[in-house]
Amino acid sequence: MRSADDWLALLQTVPDPEIPVLNVVEMGIVRGVDTTDSAVDVRITPTYMGCPAMDAIADDIRATLSPFAKEESKELRVELVYAPAWTTDWLSEEAKAKLEAYGIAPPGKTTDKRALSGDAPSVRCPKCKSNATELVSLFGSTACKAHYRCNDCAEPFDHFKCI
Ligand SMILES: [Zn+2]
Repeated sequence: MRSADDWLALLQTVPDPEIPVLNVVEMGIVRGVDTTDSAVDVRITPTYMGCPAMDAIADDIRATLSPFAKEESKELRVELVYAPAWTTDWLSEEAKAKLEAYGIAPPGKTTDKRALSGDAPSVRCPKCKSNATELVSLFGSTACKAHYRCNDCAEPFDHFKCI
């Protein structure tokens, strides 16, 4: 019989639908896993309210874990947990590095003072690491990302802005 850690390892094979280089555990979406003799309970938190990818994530998790749950004759339950709300602070440093390597500028800390002063935070270009970047559009390829352009290397890129 698989332990909670084993189930967590299986969850690490489920990619985030919007950012396939990160899995749902690295994204900080998975809050916890419990196993009993009869069930496997997975708790997940949406990356932001109304995130259209959330249904897809729950479906992906069910599709990946179902065969293993069936094997152990267990009921698989995927529960959505809304509090505390997901924040980009839950992204590990490793996850942020992977984001940058993928070409998406990772989010800064939500406690960043620039956010309080109302100025747009400076975003580092994922390609040449220049800070001379400008916001092109608040909405990039998904609602979760803002579209930026680098003034040094002219590279357009997305910044993961959800908090
Ligand atoms: Zn650049």
